[in-house]
Amino acid sequence: MESNESYDELAAWDRTHVWHAFTQMQEYEPLIIERAQGCTLIDVHGRRYLDGVSSLWCNVHGHRHPKLDAAIRAQLDKVAHVTSLGLSNPTTIRLAKRLCDLAPRGLEHVFFSDSGATAVEVALKMAFQYWRQCDEPRPRKSQYIALDAAYHGDTLGSVSVGGVARFHEMFRPLLFDVLRLPAPDAYRLPAGISREDAAQHYLQQLARLLNEHADQVAALVIEPLVQCAAGMVMHPAGYLRGVRELTRKHNVLLIADEVAVGMGRTGRMFACEQEDVSPDFLCLAKGLTGGYMPVAATLTTDEVWKAFLGDYASSRTFFHGHTFGGNPLGCAAALATLDVFEEEQTLANLQPKMARLAEHLARIAAHPHVGQVRQCGMLGAIDLVADKGARTPFPWEEKRGLRVCEHALTQGVWIRPLGNVLVLMPPLAISLAEIDQLCAATAAGIHATLGEHRSSKQ
Ligand SMILES: *Cc1c(COP(=O)(O)O)cnc(C)c1O
Repeated sequence: MESNESYDELAAWDRTHVWHAFTQMQEYEPLIIERAQGCTLIDVHGRRYLDGVSSLWCNVHGHRHPKLDAAIRAQLDKVAHVTSLGLSNPTTIRLAKRLCDLAPRGLEHVFFSDSGATAVEVALKMAFQYWRQCDEPRPRKSQYIALDAAYHGDTLGSVSVGGVARFHEMFRPLLFDVLRLPAPDAYRLPAGISREDAAQHYLQQLARLLNEHADQVAALVIEPLVQCAAGMVMHPAGYLRGVRELTRKHNVLLIADEVAVGMGRTGRMFACEQEDVSPDFLCLAKGLTGGYMPVAATLTTDEVWKAFLGDYASSRTFFHGHTFGGNPLGCAAALATLDVFEEEQTLANLQPKMARLAEHLARIAAHPHVGQVRQCGMLGAIDLVADKGARTPFPWEEKRGLRVCEHALTQGVWIRPLGNVLVLMPPLAISLAEIDQLCAATAAGIHATLGEHRSSKQ
């Protein structure tokens, strides 16, 4: 350790003064990371842990990437912060142009903020204001459609469209009402619905909702392909495209929240590309800066942008802003992140890694308490169940997922569960050997806490 305090002091201050996110502080045990390198986190004692969740979706190219480190240092020699309220700077401008060039067609304008939640708030408010200012105003369109178990961040607007009961229910009196759709879960399907019919089934529910309510709906908000915080609920193929077709037909704007699934996670730069979808809003954060800096972006179309143009007195301005939106240090990190995607051919090199992850998951799937394994690109999920046939989860109070992760930590691997679902989402830069280590520690954790199982494949 570099400074003078002892580990015990640091740990005591951490327990007392740092209020950790989504953490029961009464039970909190400090794990204090001092340094990192590549896919490895290093704690104050020098112990090393493989970062199995990219520091929660963030570090796509790993930690301490020389290119990212250098980009931030170079920007620091120019200017660290320039407000976006009426001023600009070359780095922020370049990032906006670069994102518009990369994004699905039609997304031409970028509003910068500083977190995933704010990126979603911006889209929600823009959609609302758009219907008041577009050529044929439809001021009745003031509601939103969102999915059950959705997660879009923790500010009140994003919690309103969120639907994770365990996190959100308590705040219900503070939230606005939302039209809800069932989560299009391809694993826990409703009785009588086959896998083949799943997309159609869920799309018919949307069609009914739109037939009845479209004239009150400003926008539909969705996490494309995978509802992550819900427990990596994966949508049936074709669902996203169907949502785009129906929303377009019914004149409802589509907000794609790619805060988690964007930036290469699904194997393409943006998840919407997997179904050739262009949303009206694309929300990015987390991995946008390679996990280095809090930068978020809300991209939108010319159609939306034009509705906000007018002279000052028209009050068509978007009266919304975040002090650090478009911060040059963060934008420098984001530009470098995009450079590394190109120079290292990150997406092309993902193919063998995805295949290796799939092999490991297939073996893990044989365990009697693994109900299903799911994969979307470099995102793996292991659904732990009390009863495999009935697909019943363990009671959440039993913290089964957490126990597996605690065991993995003893093997030098850091992962974090979503209730009963184990999640593997390492940096895209991970090596095949590190994937083996990650999956071996996860499998060992499952065996140690849920019972040994030897499948014929092992
Ligand atoms: C994490 C997340 C958010 C919130 O991002 P913050 O930066 O934590 O505010 C929003 N949407 C999705 C899908 C997320 O995974």
